[in-house]
Amino acid sequence: MSDIVDVLIIGAGASGAAMAYSLAETKMRIVCLDQGGWTKPSDYPTNGRDWEARFFGDYSPSPNIRGRAEDYPINDDASPIKVVNYNGVGGSTIMYTAHWPRLHPSDFRVRSLDGVADDWPIDYDMLVPFFEENDRMMGVSGLAGDPGQPPRNPPMPQQPLGLSGAIIGSAMNQLGWHWWPSDTTVATMDYDGRARCINLGHCTPACAQGAKASTDITYWPHAIRAGVELRTHCRVREITVNADGMASGVIYYDKDGVERFQAAEVVVMACNGIGTPRLLLNSKSERFPDGLANSSGLVGKNLMFHPYAQVYGYVDAPTDSNRAPPTCLWSKEFYETDPARDFVRGYSFQFGRGAGPVMEAVMSDAKGLLPWGDDHHRVFRRLNGHRIQLSAICEDLPEAHNRVTLDPVLTDSHGIPSPKIDYTISENSQRMMAHGIARAKEFLAAAGARDICTNSPILYGGWHLLGTARMGNDPARSVVNEWGRAHDVKNLFIVDGSIFVTSGGVNPTSTIQALALYIADQMKQRLANLFD
Ligand SMILES: Cc1cc2nc3c(=O)[nH]c(=O)nc-3n(C[C@H](O)[C@H](O)[C@H](O)COP(=O)(O)OP(=O)(O)OC[C@H]3O[C@@H](n4cnc5c(N)ncnc54)[C@H](O)[C@@H]3O)c2cc1C
Ligand code: SF4
Repeated sequence: MSDIVDVLIIGAGASGAAMAYSLAETKMRIVCLDQGGWTKPSDYPTNGRDWEARFFGDYSPSPNIRGRAEDYPINDDASPIKVVNYNGVGGSTIMYTAHWPRLHPSDFRVRSLDGVADDWPIDYDMLVPFFEENDRMMGVSGLAGDPGQPPRNPPMPQQPLGLSGAIIGSAMNQLGWHWWPSDTTVATMDYDGRARCINLGHCTPACAQGAKASTDITYWPHAIRAGVELRTHCRVREITVNADGMASGVIYYDKDGVERFQAAEVVVMACNGIGTPRLLLNSKSERFPDGLANSSGLVGKNLMFHPYAQVYGYVDAPTDSNRAPPTCLWSKEFYETDPARDFVRGYSFQFGRGAGPVMEAVMSDAKGLLPWGDDHHRVFRRLNGHRIQLSAICEDLPEAHNRVTLDPVLTDSHGIPSPKIDYTISENSQRMMAHGIARAKEFLAAAGARDICTNSPILYGGWHLLGTARMGNDPARSVVNEWGRAHDVKNLFIVDGSIFVTSGGVNPTSTIQALALYIADQMKQRLANLFD
């Protein structure tokens, strides 16, 4: 299939779907390639009693454990945080937890405010219309009026606080710390063809009810109806360039493993913060010997994860550990820089309901809380359904040595070199995590919790993949410009988490998709002179 298309999008996940939907109104010929396929809700683990066990097998968030044909192995041996993702239509939104904060205005100005990293070339206000559009498209539930952040208008009412939320809120009130019901992309009423949440169980390994928004059921049906062609099981090996140094198309393997070329006027990358640098580094040519769009040498560098400091304990009162969406509240009490602390920037707290019974048993056994023998069932009953937990999502600052390169040996099933991760947690992040753990323990004490446990960092917590092709005005210090176009290749755009300049202290997907919609809007406004 070598007839030329107007726009070729690589990756059908969070950002690729938003881009496809937004550009569809131009009536250009748009094709999206994804290495994975559609996932059937009837196959989701939450349909069966073994839903928790499958989290350790074919629905593991780790591609290395899942090991499906559409996954690519990742060498993350040299990282204390392992990469997790999902490859297929919907991308990692199939697996995500649907916690839906936005970056704060200060996150775009960290150099000006705190003298670290770099300011973004855009600001929060420029993204507001796109945050709002994205909230409507994904279907967000929440409660307006949060004093901890700028105003927003979630289109659906918030989730009920439930048993856990009430306990958490009252402990936070004792401490006088900010808390608010979290925004989530979980539908609390029937919405755009999706059924509302019925509190069936844990949402993270995909929601069979369709209440949790993943882009296969939000953006994609609209984009496809508007004429976008989505080709599944098509894995892109490299982006090709012509004699003018412009992207000319991609070489990919189709579902039968046949190598094909697709020509394109414009190429948009939406492969996430690991997949995008991997593909750029694999796209070497005479003109771009160090990989495509890499004259700055920054492709793959400045990887940011958000180290998670998770702390939990057990209360006497019952909680709704394994029912209802896992995240219910957030706190921005420690979000902004405080000169009295020994670190810059900050973190948010993400409160969780707990774990399902199998996870509770496995984790409590590993932590030495659950004895074998006569006392086993009595102790298990005291733990199961009594957990409350919180995680400090720590802002990770960009550091060039935290990076994605190509592994010299490891490849995917098509023989394409795999990514290799080198990552260490910085001193600043370590101090922030220690602060978060200390505050979390104060909170758990206020809630009357005992048997306190800590996971810091969460080992399989590399879910936020940011910074590896960052935006900026200066081509020597960034990979794409302020509207997502590669400085080196004028018809190449990047719209996923790679372009983040800094990570903020919140989950990023709301901001990733707002950025994709913003970049699509910029492209539409400049269609007549896109390549100038
Ligand atoms: C377990 C888990 C929990 C999470 N919880 C949250 C949360 O609560 N809140 C939040 O904000 N975020 C959360 N996230 C993160 C969120 O899912 C990601 O931030 C978001 O999906 C990233 O969007 P993206 O478009 O950059 O990439 P993705 O959504 O990962 O999509 C990338 C797509 O590109 C495709 N692709 C990659 N390389 C190629 C190639 N060479 N050829 C063809 N296709 C390719 C992949 O198959 C994939 O479909 C979570 C993630 C996980 C895994
Ligand atoms: S709790 Fe709600 S959103 Fe989560 S899996 Fe169940 S129905 Fe879906």
